[in-house]
Order: sequence, then C-alpha cells, then structure tokens
Amino acid sequence: TNTDPESAADPGALRTPIVAVLGHVDHGKTTLLDRIRGSAVQEGEAGAITQHIGATAVPLETISEMAGALVDPTDFDLPGLLFIDTPGHHSFSTLRSRGGALADIAVLVVDVNDGFQPQTEEAISILKRTGTPFVVAANKIDTTPGWNPQEGEPIQKSLEKQSERATSRLNENLYELIGDLSSAGFSADFYWRVQDFQSNIGVVPVSAMTMEGIPDLLTVLMGLSQRYMKEEMSIDVSGPGVGTVLEVKDERGFGATLDVVLYDGVVREGDTIVVGGRDDPIVTEVRALLQPRPNAEIRTEKRFERVDEVRAAAGVKIAAPDLDEAMSGAPVRVVRGDDVDAVKEEVRKELAKIEVD
Ligand code: GDP
Repeated sequence: TNTDPESAADPGALRTPIVAVLGHVDHGKTTLLDRIRGSAVQEGEAGAITQHIGATAVPLETISEMAGALVDPTDFDLPGLLFIDTPGHHSFSTLRSRGGALADIAVLVVDVNDGFQPQTEEAISILKRTGTPFVVAANKIDTTPGWNPQEGEPIQKSLEKQSERATSRLNENLYELIGDLSSAGFSADFYWRVQDFQSNIGVVPVSAMTMEGIPDLLTVLMGLSQRYMKEEMSIDVSGPGVGTVLEVKDERGFGATLDVVLYDGVVREGDTIVVGGRDDPIVTEVRALLQPRPNAEIRTEKRFERVDEVRAAAGVKIAAPDLDEAMSGAPVRVVRGDDVDAVKEEVRKELAKIEVD
C-alpha cells in the first residue's frame, strides 16, 4: 500500500474551481479582488489563504468564516475558490483550456448606478460564447443616496438597516439591471429568488468598498460550483499536470519563467513538460516550482519560495531551461508515462485551436 499521502492517488478528489472577474472599466473588478484577498488574509488562520502566482486561493474554511451563517462548510466538498488575479475580459478570453474558457465560473461586475456599458455587453457575449456559468455582482450599493454602510455584512442584514428611501433607490437600479440582463437573453433575478442557477442568473448586490454582500457572493459562487460543476471538478489529482501560460517573465537567477494556471493534475520538480512556443512546442524539464513568499516573510531577499509539487487548481511559476520562445495563452502539459511526441502533438493541436478562435 502507498503510505505517502502526498502521492496517493485520490480519484474522487475535487479540485478548486477557477473564478474569473469581468466587467466594464471602473465598475470595481480590481477593488473586489483586492478586498477579497485582504479580508481573507485578516480572517483566515495564518496561512489559510494562499497567494499563488497570478491567482488567489480562498479555502473553504476561510469562505465560511467570511460568510458567517450563510455557509455551513459541511454542505460543501469543494476545497474553496481560486480567483484569477488579472481581471477583465481580455485576460478571460485569451486564457483558454482545451479551447474553452480557463475559468470554470465568472463574476460579472456591474456598477449598480451605471448599469450595462459597452464592456459589460462584450463580457456577456464572451460568457455566452464560452458557455461559462456566471453571477452578477451589482457593485457599489454603498453609493446609493442615504446608504447606511454595514461593513462586511450579508445583504439581508444590511438591508434591514437601510431606510425605505435608500432601499427603493437601490431596487430601482437593480430592476433596471435585471431588465438589461433579460434584454441580453438571460433570465435573471435577485440571487435569493433563484432556484436553478443554470437557467437563471443570480444578481448579488454588493459593495467592494464596504464588503456588504460579499459573504453572499462567495456563497453563491460555492453553490454554483458545487451544484453544477462537480463532474468537471472531479479529477485524478495525481494525473499529469495540464495548465495555461498566463505570462512569460524573466526572473533574476532563473531566466525566462512561466506563470501558469494549472487546471488539472499535478506538476513536480524534475517533470518533463511540453509548452506551446512561437515555432514548435518546447520540451524541457522543470528546474523549480515557485510560489510567492507569504507577506510576513517579505523582508527576506528572495521573493519566491520553492515547492516540490503543485496540484490543480493553482497558479505557479515554472522555472526551466529554454523558455524564451514560450507564449502566453499557450498550453503546458506534463509528460508522465506518455510518449513525448504524442504530448507535443496534443499541444500543437490545442495551439491551433486557440489561434483559429
Ligand atoms: P476596475 O476598473 O473594474 O478594476 O475598477 P476599480 O476596482 O479600479 O474601481 C474603480 C473605482 O471605483 C475606484 O476608485 C474604486 O475605489 C471605486 N469602487 C470600486 N468598488 C466600489 C464600491 O463598492 N463602492 C464605492 N463607493 N466605490 C467603489
């Protein structure tokens, strides 16, 4: 029997869903991500939240601490949520996995006062085309005239503290948003009225500034992943790693490195990998797997720490020789057991598919 838990195959294991944040410029994508990162760090046990390369992992325990009564952690068996740190539909549409969207689910951020704007429409059409399930974060509710902010509270609790006038001003905006979504071909409603999140879009009123409604947003994202995506999340965590290159970056002491979002399997130091390159796929060997150092250790010279292996879903920096010609958006695959040429062919095909789209 295999007594090493790290390498024990666990075919039923669920991976972390990958979440992307989209929306019109200035509607609050960056603030939302920053605040989720920040408060999760505050609330979580030391080290509970992990900063990945290009992504932030919020574990289930931290989500349930943030969500308070809304989330009973025993209702979920997903490990948490992995937020891609680069918001916007440009990164969303260039980051593919097997020709589909890299993200499993998305948050469409809409300024509740501003409503649908050109980039909101663009984001909607990309989400439609890729068939990505999403929820709408109706952001900046705290700017409603007469709003009485309730830092970090679930939306119902906050609404109890609002005047009738503020509530009805907010509702006007929210109904307009629901109308815009319906014009775009989506039946949408306040999330607490939605029974079936597959055929209806849930609208979650939030403030990235005061964090009101954020417990709700996290809960809806967990519920959406858990209910409808379990099959896709169920992976053989010991399988060969598969990912997408976010960026190719020069790092002192390492040369060209890959910032990768791993969406399947595991990658280990020493693994042979195949990466999409400008000409032919590159075959190379993993020298080091790097993660950002936790904040507390930021004073040390080195910005990264080495890890032996990384499991999906995760963001990681891969240092390896010969990466100069690697391309962002390209697939990365670990070769384990398979024939290198077969994996190269697969990477070639995936690249062709991405370039055609
Ligand atoms: P992005 O372009 O979508 O990433 O938008 P940002 O996160 O940069 O936000 C644009 C502006 O809106 C910034 O000045 C933010 O401080 C502000 N902002 C974002 N979310 C909120 C919110 O919930 N309430 C208020 N009052 N301001 C917000």
